[in-house]
Amino acid sequence: MIIDLHIHTNLGSICSQLGPDELLVRVRELGIDGICVTDHHSHRGANRMLEYAGDRGYPIFRGVEIYTDYGDMLVFGLKRDTRYHLTTFWELVEMAEADGAVIIPAHPCRGWDPKHGHRHAFPREMADHIVAIETHNGANKHRSNLQAQELAREWGKPGVGGSDAHALWQVGKCVTVFEREISSEEDLVRELREGRFFGAYLEELRREAV
Ligand SMILES: [Zn+2]
Ligand SMILES: [Zn+2]
Repeated sequence: MIIDLHIHTNLGSICSQLGPDELLVRVRELGIDGICVTDHHSHRGANRMLEYAGDRGYPIFRGVEIYTDYGDMLVFGLKRDTRYHLTTFWELVEMAEADGAVIIPAHPCRGWDPKHGHRHAFPREMADHIVAIETHNGANKHRSNLQAQELAREWGKPGVGGSDAHALWQVGKCVTVFEREISSEEDLVRELREGRFFGAYLEELRREAV
């Protein structure tokens, strides 16, 4: 099952121009089987999207993207909203543990400069509290995704993919391929915990399928 795991719509993100109608048309055209709406700090937009899509029968899941001192984190299964810029990674870990949610660093290597060896200093202990790394982010430069893939290998974590779309043309560039069908948020969280998935560029998947 192919899911675009990282999408911002204009129902919940003021930074997004992406409307719900065009989004639903586009993902079907692309042959993507489901989407996850991951607005900043709040499930409000994802809830609106679910209401909006109603009984159209297209799988829509909810997540949030939370700013922390270790960069943006995608969180699935969180039972609350958080406030902007006030959450540290370790506070988020506490919340996620209490709610049974899972954490995945979003675009962890965006802005790394390999020439100068500059990278955000991720403490190794972080690895024990995340289930995967976003190795394929559609808004990243390819180089940043390669660095994220290297980090995932180094830490022995699986990768997820999502477009990080804020506009229609970005939808579906990167996706997560799940081994099993996912029909609820609980399924999604369980599969993410179990590691039965991988991140990819949609174009690459299509090429391999030919
Ligand atoms: Zn982000
Ligand atoms: Zn994002």
